Amino acid sequence: MDFVEQLKSSVDIVSVVGEYVRLRRSGANRYMGLCPFHNEKSPSFTVHVVHQFYKCFSCGVSGDVVKFVQEKEGLSFYEALKSLSERYGIPMPKRSGYADEDSKLRGALLAMHEQAEEAFRANLKSQAGEAARNYIAKRGLAPETVEHFGLGYSDRSGRALVRLFEQHGFPVAQMEQSGLVGKRQDGSLYDRFRNRLMFPIHNESGKIIAFGGRALSPDDEPKYLNSPETPIYKKSHVLYNLHRAREGVRKDDRAILVEGYMDAIGVTAAGFRNVVASCGTALTTQQVQAVKRHSHRIAVNFDPDAPGANAAERSIDLLLAEGMQVRIVELDGDLDPDEYCKERGAAAYHERLDGAKGYFYWLADRVRAKHDMRTSEGKVAVLNFLLPKLQAITDQLERMTVANDVAGYLGVDRGMVLDHFRKAVTERSEKAIQRPVSPLRHDERMLLIASFADAELRTDMIGRLRSLQTIETLPSRGIFRAIFALEEAGGRVGFDEVNGRLEEADQNLLAQAVLNEDGEISREEVMAAIESMERSEQQYLRGQLKTRISESERGGRFDEAMRLTAELQALERTARGRRL
Ligand SMILES: [Zn+2]
Repeated sequence: MDFVEQLKSSVDIVSVVGEYVRLRRSGANRYMGLCPFHNEKSPSFTVHVVHQFYKCFSCGVSGDVVKFVQEKEGLSFYEALKSLSERYGIPMPKRSGYADEDSKLRGALLAMHEQAEEAFRANLKSQAGEAARNYIAKRGLAPETVEHFGLGYSDRSGRALVRLFEQHGFPVAQMEQSGLVGKRQDGSLYDRFRNRLMFPIHNESGKIIAFGGRALSPDDEPKYLNSPETPIYKKSHVLYNLHRAREGVRKDDRAILVEGYMDAIGVTAAGFRNVVASCGTALTTQQVQAVKRHSHRIAVNFDPDAPGANAAERSIDLLLAEGMQVRIVELDGDLDPDEYCKERGAAAYHERLDGAKGYFYWLADRVRAKHDMRTSEGKVAVLNFLLPKLQAITDQLERMTVANDVAGYLGVDRGMVLDHFRKAVTERSEKAIQRPVSPLRHDERMLLIASFADAELRTDMIGRLRSLQTIETLPSRGIFRAIFALEEAGGRVGFDEVNGRLEEADQNLLAQAVLNEDGEISREEVMAAIESMERSEQQYLRGQLKTRISESERGGRFDEAMRLTAELQALERTARGRRL
């Protein structure tokens, strides 16, 4: 067995996927959950326990456990193997042929980021770092906080990193791909970050993968400059400070989500160990999922200004779609989280945090301020705004409770409005778990599934199926061909082996066949399927004969027509004989 097979057979795909997706058992061999690769409200992401693969019936992604880790964590094949082998304590062969160009590049980029961080930190302490140190002092950051977050300074020269990387022998192509170095028209290289306060950005395992830089001179645009996307940095996947905060998030069973680096740092410095920041980008599903692995509860604390409130409102839908419990922290005095902690202290912030409103009350407040609640038009407008948000709550009981609470909170009386509202909330289209619709016939499906069951049964089955012309007319003919070929070659006929020989369309068919079946199928069922297939064959042959007969007649070849008719009659006799 090669290492990949060994790994796959020792790792349970359900528990690996379960770290990212809440899976519910939905059949003897099957789990389902919300797809982590696209945004959906009813589950179509399916994991097969026995054949150890996943498939999403909405967006079509599928693969094995290695592919899942690759896609979810943005790793190369080699890195995914390594990560799984470390997690499950399965030693990887020393001389492994899996190290590829891709992981070498990533290794180099990570090394460059480490060197850059060191250089930035040294700069901050040097004479050149004075303006940065002044800014830090103005923001009231203690030296240990600066140290803890690895803050640094990128100097004005615009050549410091280029020189450093040249000294360490990194090729120009790697420098460019790091996102830390740019290339001018004339081919010369320059540092992307100049005269900025530098914030290292880490991935969840604590490796530096990017930087954010705050301008120190008011003339420098933009105020915050971030690393571009690189092979090691996918903006939409990373939350600032998550690698430090995840312990705290688990312990407190709550994450605090703020907008910027300084907020995350300030609130952490005040003693809260569960703060993450979205940092400039609109919150993404992947970011929410990254937090969700540690807790389902989140307190959103964005800036008190209008853009902050709008961003908070947008984030609510996304958080609800991921099944998070959302509260909105409101701070008085127009203070952002960092300022609030400094001016009012940790205890006051803690109070605001614990007193944070459920998101629907916060939304209700927001929309109420825009309408005249004394008129029924105003009430209807407010309720219509809130309705879709309430409908987004997946649990029906919770949905009704919240609807009643909100109606009460808004002062909507028990009139028509409330009835209409309640009705709409109750009637939320409850999409049941979607069973993939298989285009395959029942007998066809049974035979495919049986192919992976019992070797003896399979050999019998193949012996009877092989000569059937009907097989070539089935949508699954490509899969049967692969099974026949493997059996003939005397190799193992397992799901992986067959799947590996198929085109993508056929892989989808096979997945559907396998995922549509619960539990074991019996020998009787298999026999019945073979007989059904043989009956189809008879029908098929008769159909063929009839076509040929009418062709002969039309062509005036009556002898041939007579001979074929006799053949047809013989076939029909056998068919009747079988039925008796
Ligand atoms: Zn999907």
